[in-house]
Amino acid sequence: MYTLEFWQKRASDLYLPANALIDGKPVNAQDGATFAAINPATNNVLAQVSACGQAEVDLAVASARRAFEQGPWARMAPTERKKVLLRLAELIMAHREELALLDSLNMGKPVMDAYNIDVPGSAQVFAWYGEALDKLYDQVAPTAPHALATITREALGVVAAVVPWNFPLDMAAWKLAPALAAGNSVVLKPAEQSPFSALRLAQLALQAGVPEGVLNVVPGLGEQAGQALGLHPDVDCLVFTGSTQVGKYFMQYSAQSNLKQVWLECGGKSPNLVFENCQDLDLAAEKAAFGIFFNQGEVCSANSRLYVQRSIHDEFIERLQAKARQWLPGNPLDPASRAGAIVDAGQTGRIEAAIARAGQEGARLICGGRRLTIDGSDNYIEPTIFAGVDGRMSLAREEVFGPVLAVSAFDSEEQAVRLANDSIYGLAASVWSDDFNQVHRVARALKAGTVSVNTVDALDVTVPFGGGRQSGFGRDLSLHSFDKYSQLKTTWYQLRA
Ligand code: NAP
Ligand code: MG
Repeated sequence: MYTLEFWQKRASDLYLPANALIDGKPVNAQDGATFAAINPATNNVLAQVSACGQAEVDLAVASARRAFEQGPWARMAPTERKKVLLRLAELIMAHREELALLDSLNMGKPVMDAYNIDVPGSAQVFAWYGEALDKLYDQVAPTAPHALATITREALGVVAAVVPWNFPLDMAAWKLAPALAAGNSVVLKPAEQSPFSALRLAQLALQAGVPEGVLNVVPGLGEQAGQALGLHPDVDCLVFTGSTQVGKYFMQYSAQSNLKQVWLECGGKSPNLVFENCQDLDLAAEKAAFGIFFNQGEVCSANSRLYVQRSIHDEFIERLQAKARQWLPGNPLDPASRAGAIVDAGQTGRIEAAIARAGQEGARLICGGRRLTIDGSDNYIEPTIFAGVDGRMSLAREEVFGPVLAVSAFDSEEQAVRLANDSIYGLAASVWSDDFNQVHRVARALKAGTVSVNTVDALDVTVPFGGGRQSGFGRDLSLHSFDKYSQLKTTWYQLRA
């Protein structure tokens, strides 16, 4: 049903939200500052977007504070808040094409991926937290009979969320849904590469009945709007998804300001282990390719390190090469494209540099490796595989955030686990084996927030997502994410005998 022509036509008259949304109203930056939102698939400027700075962040935080202290949202019966979040989920689906296009045009992902995965995924997250929030009970402590002690969860107040560009709508939803469900007010800063879907989402939230001031969006640059949120004395909690480097800045901002809670979802270099007793090597190869080439490799939990048992190594590489060919990038608006454009010229250049460096350090190029020009834009990278990657090479250690896979051979289970855990990161890992005891041993030994067994990138709103080490701490999704958005209150009632 969907064709390139359909999406091109739809894109030509698409409404592009370009103002901040503060206190329920569209707002320009006070100094008139804007930044250009560029389509990486054409290098055309899509719109000039308000570049929020200190002044707008102050307004947004004040609005969020007012809404939290005086407004109805935090005081609403859970069943009522639930209705609003369920309405928002429905509105997201009603605007599925529009939201999919906004993300695709902004950051280059295939529009059909946004349509089939990102948009329904974000609707599901709002619906799930909406459904959950009136089924949460608090606790009574097992005190001696002379007292009653309740342990209740309370909203924190003003939550600031700073998110990246790789899944713009979903990263916003993962933060907003539980934060709002818990009764907080939120100020959201999308990445400068991808402000549109967050701004549109906030408009839909208003339409669904989220009161003015409860959800504010301040597009802008990281060093301005992002830093101002990190340092703000009236933000209670800062949730972040992005690079490890910037995550570290947020911990510093907190220490320099009001010791706001900081929760970080940062980078990764996730290992994928394929053992010789894996029965379905073709599926393992297909998923290994998906694990690194989906979303142009711009995935925090991308399976960017592949460890294959030496006895099956060469055969596996052959299968993998065939699978890689299916991930050649194309016009993101073409439903036939499985991969699209890299988010911008800067990131494309960094991926190119990582490829060049891997070659210089002695890794063996199996396929890909080139920057491509498609329809006049050169923000494309071929699906790229290097073999013979040594644990000391930068390709084994540093996150590329592009479609570049590092393959190494191993001889024993013990060696495979050691190589997999030899990283500063600990976000995700995958294991392929049909030996029941082996998968249990290995899954336990891997240092990762999520271990996928006989699949990759296992992800569902029902299970926590996040990592350890320098991939961050705290968890998105599932009921566990409420730990980020609420604090415990103990109330002790001393009783007379
Ligand atoms: P990034 O450069 O760290 O940016 C993330 C956010 O932080 C953006 O909104 C950015 O704003 C802002 N920012 C940048 N510099 C800042 C500063 N000095 N002070 C305050 N805020 C600042 O990351 P990205 O390039 O957008 O995304 C890729 C990274 O995200 C990868 O490392 C990936 O692994 C990670 N990621 C992690 C997860 C996870 O769940 N663990 C999920 C997705 C992505 P501007 O864009 O406007 O500069
Ligand atoms: Mg950025």
